[in-house]
Amino acid sequence: MAGDRKMAVLEILKYPHPTLKKRSKEVGQIDQEIKTLIHDMTETMYDANGVGLAACQIGISQRVIVIDVSPIDPQHNFFALINPEIISEEGETDHEEGCLSVPDFFEKVKRHEKVRVKGHSPEGQEVEIEGEGMLAFALQHEIDHLNGLLILDRLSHLKREIYRNRLKKGKRSARVDSEKEEEN
Ligand SMILES: [Zn+2]
Repeated sequence: MAGDRKMAVLEILKYPHPTLKKRSKEVGQIDQEIKTLIHDMTETMYDANGVGLAACQIGISQRVIVIDVSPIDPQHNFFALINPEIISEEGETDHEEGCLSVPDFFEKVKRHEKVRVKGHSPEGQEVEIEGEGMLAFALQHEIDHLNGLLILDRLSHLKREIYRNRLKKGKRSARVDSEKEEEN
């Protein structure tokens, strides 16, 4: 079996892991390593029932994201995006979201209603994706990860302190399942 590498479900790093705070690096060449990374990220995301995942969440500081919002918005399919970059944004709203790296926490975050993102597909094609609603939120959330930002960084100082204190006390589930939504 040596050398016969299979896809793997990897551990998702949790706040306050320092890798989550780092800005991820641009991908230079889309080689086999990046493709394997995308496979692993995809497996890991589905295993955790997430709708998106950034490479840094599994400890790899490269600008790669995977998104599948189809459980919430069935008109969109799975995709992976390399070096994604927001090129335009429109509208503002509060969206309640969670994060696989910030367990048992859901809070309203300021997001744009629509974004246009450019990047590269795993095949190396330059692509542009326009997202509205759930897809727009997921794109912004995952691109935030690539810039070292968590939903906690988008909250008021007070709400962030409340979460930190809760972690310290070891009580991580203040809003137990009451408003469970997507985590990404
Ligand atoms: Zn997240």
